[in-house]
Amino acid sequence: LQGYVGFANLPNQVHRKSVKKGFNFTIMVVGESGLGKSTLVNTLFNAPLYPPKEYAPLTEESPKTVGIQLFSTDIEENGVRLKLNVVDTPGFGDFINNEDSWKPILKTIEGRFDAYLEQENRVNRSKITDTRVNACLYFIAPTGHSLKALDIEFMKRLHNKVNLIPVIAKSDTMTHEEIAAFKERILLDIAHHDIKIYHAQHYDSDDIETINETKDVMSKIPFAIVGSDKAIETPDGRHVRGRKYPWGVIEVDNEDHCDFVKLRQMLIRTHMEELKEFTNDIHYENYRTEKLLAMGY
Ligand code: GDP
Ligand code: MG
Repeated sequence: LQGYVGFANLPNQVHRKSVKKGFNFTIMVVGESGLGKSTLVNTLFNAPLYPPKEYAPLTEESPKTVGIQLFSTDIEENGVRLKLNVVDTPGFGDFINNEDSWKPILKTIEGRFDAYLEQENRVNRSKITDTRVNACLYFIAPTGHSLKALDIEFMKRLHNKVNLIPVIAKSDTMTHEEIAAFKERILLDIAHHDIKIYHAQHYDSDDIETINETKDVMSKIPFAIVGSDKAIETPDGRHVRGRKYPWGVIEVDNEDHCDFVKLRQMLIRTHMEELKEFTNDIHYENYRTEKLLAMGY
């Protein structure tokens, strides 16, 4: 199964033209160091992703500011080509003063809008490359308390630019009861601070199954996730991706253990097209309009 992502139903999900040409999907991961961003990315796509050749290899030394690292991979399944891009943001929240941690991230998102706008304005528009960020997974530390000032600041600065998807990192370090209470606190905080997170819709569906699926996905936000790129053996002899504890095994791909499967399903199968639509119709359109107004149009 190495490398298998499972977007088998994409021909129904994405327009025929983009299916043939192949298409881009770009996810950004943000959160403090050590919260499992890199591990989750590898777990999500079931393969290590590599930086594109034109970028310098990664170094182990810690950056002085929030860095931006790009990874991408081409996947083909059932005749559908997907170019999957990941924008990692090492260094976020790692400094004594993290006040401006959101700035380089905002700059990256806007820079990608600008690149798209520039291509749209060209005479020959047949080869537009879309590197706009379609979803931002924001990693919340599994503290069980409320959101930190840094979390709130980041989300408020970015919520009009990108589809924000909050996740509880390393949720295997909390009990189910703690997770349920923490989710509630987080959602209250988000509401209290008027933060707009991604809200999946099912407006063009009259299919009760699709509607229920979407409701089910939404009920899990913020997704409590566990990442692991290692196979381990369960007490009953199965080999699974998971994390081992003296008291047992947490299985990444078991929906009773964490929300990883739900998150992946939403990103890659059920809501990929919608995330792309919202990026274009809402976030990009707002940005473009503001920019044109500022330029005096
Ligand atoms: P990053 O700095 O956010 O990219 O975090 P990494 O992916 O490098 O992970 C940091 C450490 O946390 C590594 O030792 C991982 O094995 C571990 N880790 C990653 N995901 C999880 C998780 O879901 N649960 C637990 N308990 N540890 C994790
Ligand atoms: Mg990392």
